[in-house]
Amino acid sequence: MVAKPLAETPIPIARPSRAEAEAAVRTLLRWAGDDPAREGLLDTPARVVRSYEEFFAGYAVDPVALLERTFAETEGYDEIVLLKDIRLESYCEHHMVPIIGRAHVAYLPSNRVVGISKLARVVNAYAKRLQIQEKLTAQIANTIEAVLQPRGVGVVIESEHQCMTTRGVHQHGASMVTSRMLGVFRDDANTRRELMALIGRS
Ligand SMILES: [Zn+2]
Repeated sequence: MVAKPLAETPIPIARPSRAEAEAAVRTLLRWAGDDPAREGLLDTPARVVRSYEEFFAGYAVDPVALLERTFAETEGYDEIVLLKDIRLESYCEHHMVPIIGRAHVAYLPSNRVVGISKLARVVNAYAKRLQIQEKLTAQIANTIEAVLQPRGVGVVIESEHQCMTTRGVHQHGASMVTSRMLGVFRDDANTRRELMALIGRS
């Protein structure tokens, strides 16, 4: 048995009904200055609520369960496993607008490996929630560390925050980079350099 990671985002309790959520969208449409009763907007509240089911699908996914099936037949493979350029679509918890970017997820196996697509699923499970990038980066790394117990975990995320590009300071093209290094990636500068070179950030 492995230890469960701490600090899971709690699933909100007492969810409103779909009708209540659609009514809230009509309120926001009026707040924007438009008329929710005009033809073009009639189905918008239902569409927005369905979109929210996709945008925030991560609340219904248990990232720990995604990593629990592992493989031990690795012929002694003990080098870095890296999944690069995972498309990242998340949502800023301060403005509820998209954070779009790429995630790179690496680990150094101790003796077990996981199906590579599962790393992308873990990224998605945490990304499809309201987030800040720092917390997202840490949650992905901490979960892989806790469940796989590898010799090291490295997560690097580069993204553009639409709350910066389309409002506020309007910094188009500015990207935010965060990383979390655990185990050998934290303790050993050579291993960390090797990872950064593989990612293409030396
Ligand atoms: Zn924001």
